[in-house]
Amino acid sequence: MTEETIFSRILKGEIPCDEVYSDELCIAFKDIEPQAPTHIIIIPRKNIPSLKEIKDSDSSLLGHLLLTSTKIAKKEGLDNWRTVINTGELAGQTVFHLHIHIIGGRSLNWPPG
Ligand code: AMP
Repeated sequence: MTEETIFSRILKGEIPCDEVYSDELCIAFKDIEPQAPTHIIIIPRKNIPSLKEIKDSDSSLLGHLLLTSTKIAKKEGLDNWRTVINTGELAGQTVFHLHIHIIGGRSLNWPPG
């Protein structure tokens, strides 16, 4: 039995989102609480809670997500951006459906908090 999350409900169309990209493997939408002028979330259609659960058989999906993140960042006009995957509660993960953040449009500090 797979856990329901806000993102699985977005995938099912039960919750609206501001979609910026969609294909057979993933969708991308604007973050509801943007941390920068551009803040987009990319999620696989496959239910994977986090990077802890990925398998060798997910390698092409994971490559697709990363390639898609670059296409979206460029389409959004970004020349500098940060790609983030929070893994586990202590690392800041709040939604347990694997997702990539694309954050850009302002200068970003390092290290993160
Ligand atoms: P994380 O903390 O890495 O798990 O990221 C979860 C992200 O999902 C946060 O940046 C939230 O602002 C964002 N988020 C939560 N609910 C929604 C929603 N309904 N639509 C868009 N983004 C959301």
